[in-house]
Amino acid sequence: MSSKRIIIVGGGVIGLSIAEQLLRKGITPIVLDRGAFAKEASWAGAGFLDLRSVARVGGSMMELCKKSYDLFPEWTARLKKDSQVDPEYQNSGSYDVAFTEEEETAIHKMENNLKTFGLTGQWYEGPEALDREPQLSSLAQSVFYFPHTSQVLPARLNRALLQVLQKAKVDLREFEEVDDFLIKGKQFLGVRTNKGVIDADGVVIAAGAWSAPLAEKLGLSLVSKPYRGQVVHYRSQPGVVKHILFHTGSTGITYMVPRLDGHIYVGSTLEDVGFDKSTTPAGLEKLKTGAMQLVPGLSQYLIEETWAGLRPGSIDGWPYLGPVPGLEGVWMAAGHYTHGILLSAVTGEVMAQMVNGERTSVNLLPFALNRSAHPVSGL
Ligand SMILES: Cc1cc2nc3c(=O)[nH]c(=O)nc-3n(C[C@H](O)[C@H](O)[C@H](O)COP(=O)(O)OP(=O)(O)OC[C@H]3O[C@@H](n4cnc5c(N)ncnc54)[C@H](O)[C@@H]3O)c2cc1C
Repeated sequence: MSSKRIIIVGGGVIGLSIAEQLLRKGITPIVLDRGAFAKEASWAGAGFLDLRSVARVGGSMMELCKKSYDLFPEWTARLKKDSQVDPEYQNSGSYDVAFTEEEETAIHKMENNLKTFGLTGQWYEGPEALDREPQLSSLAQSVFYFPHTSQVLPARLNRALLQVLQKAKVDLREFEEVDDFLIKGKQFLGVRTNKGVIDADGVVIAAGAWSAPLAEKLGLSLVSKPYRGQVVHYRSQPGVVKHILFHTGSTGITYMVPRLDGHIYVGSTLEDVGFDKSTTPAGLEKLKTGAMQLVPGLSQYLIEETWAGLRPGSIDGWPYLGPVPGLEGVWMAAGHYTHGILLSAVTGEVMAQMVNGERTSVNLLPFALNRSAHPVSGL
C-alpha cells in the first residue's frame, strides 16, 4: 500500500477510471466533485465505442482509441465481477446508412481510412440490409456494416466504478468544489475547496469541460471549451433496432444506440453555445427527424426523456493527458471531447502509471497539455 496522498478533481468517468486504476496500484485516492458523481457528460453520453470516426484523424489518436477499445471487454468484465453492476458492454456492431450516392462515397472514404488500420467491414445493398435490420427505412440504398463498434451503458459503467471505489473505502466527496491549489515553488501541496484545505502529494485534474478555469489557476492557458450535445431517449422493445445506426446527411449526424432493455438513445447535436445545458425545440426536432428517416417505425414509440450534456473540447479534439508543465505533482486528464467513454479505459491506465512514477504504456507526448494543435484535428 502506497502512502501517497492523491486527489482527483472531478468524479466523471475519467476521474473515476483513474481512481480505480490507482487503487489497483495500492494508492487510495480522494475523489472530489463539485456536484454529484458522474452526472455531467459522463452521464449524458451515448457510450458507443467508436473507431470509425477516429480513423480519419489517425496517428497517435487512433492508436490511443484502439488500445482503449481493446481494453473494454476485460475491463468491464472485471468491473462487473468486482461491483456486481453490469456496465452492459456489448459488441453491437454498427451500420453506416447511405440514402444517396454522395453519402455512399463519404462512407467509402471512411472505410478506406479504417483499412489502413487493418479494420474492415462489409457492404449490404438495401434488401440485404433490411434482412439484417428489419426496421430500417426501405429508402436506404446501402449500409456499411462495421463489426468493431461496441457500446456500454455509461450510467452503469460509472455505477460499477463507484461501487468498486466505495467497497475499497475510497474517500469519495460529492458537492466539494476545488477553488484553488496550494503550491510552494514548483511543488504541489494541496487544494482549497469550498469546505476547507486538503493536503496531498499530488492532484489529477479531471474536471471535464470545467478543466480550463482550474488550469488557469496554475498559470496554464488551456484551449478547451464545451460542446453541447442534445439527446432524445425512446422507450421501445428489445430487438426493434439491432445495430448502432449512423447517418450523416445534409443536416448533420444522427445516431441510434439500441439498449438491451429496448430503450433507444438518439443523438446528438454538436453545438458551441458555452456552458448552456438546456435542450432546444430545434435541436430535438432535428434528432427526431433524423431518427425517423432511419427507422420510420420509431414513431409508434414514446419519447421517455430528453437531455443535453457538455463534451469537454480541446485545441484539436485530442485529449490532454500529462503533467502540468513547470509543476511537481500536478497532472491533467481532460478534453476527451466526443470520445471520453471510449478513452476512459486507457486514460485510467496511463494516468495511474504516470502518478505512480511508472513508464506509461502509451507515449503521451502527442497529448501534452502545452502542445500545438495537431494538423489533423479531431474537432
Ligand atoms: C450527448 C453526448 C454524447 C456522447 N456520446 C459519447 C459516446 O457515445 N462515446 C464516447 O466515448 N463519448 C461520448 N461523449 C463524450 C463523453 O461523454 C465525455 O468525453 C466524457 O464523459 C468526459 O468525461 P469527464 O469525466 O472528463 O467529464 P464529466 O463527465 O463532465 O465530469 C467532470 C466532473 O468534474 C466536476 N467538476 C468540474 N469542476 C470541478 C471543480 N472545480 N471541483 C470539483 N469537481 C469539479 C463536474 O461536476 C463533473 O462531474 C458524449 C458526450 C455527450 C455530451
